[in-house]
Amino acid sequence: MPRQAVIDETGKRHGRLTVIERVENVDGGAARWLCRCDCGKHTLATGRQLRAGSKKSCGCVNVGRWPRVLQKRYPKIWRDESVVNVEDLEDIAQ
Ligand SMILES: [Zn+2]
Repeated sequence: MPRQAVIDETGKRHGRLTVIERVENVDGGAARWLCRCDCGKHTLATGRQLRAGSKKSCGCVNVGRWPRVLQKRYPKIWRDESVVNVEDLEDIAQ
C-alpha cells in the first residue's frame, strides 16, 4: 500500500504555533513537526493535531490566562489546549 502523502506544514501558523520543520515520525507513522509558540517555547505536534486545531500552543496559553473562576467552571475545556483564549471559551459556553 502506498504511504499517505505528508502535507507540508513548514512555515504555517496554527493558533500560536509556527511550524519550523519536520522531525522524526511518531511511532504510529504520523508526521510530526517542530513548532515554535508565540511565547518562545518549542513543542512537537502531529500534522493531524495541527490541522484539527487540537494543538494551538505549547500549552502556555490556558495556564496563564484563564481567570480562576472560569477554570473551575469549565475544567475540561480549560485543560484542552484547543481553547486559545477566554473569548473563545465564552463562544463555546453559550
Ligand atoms: Zn507557548
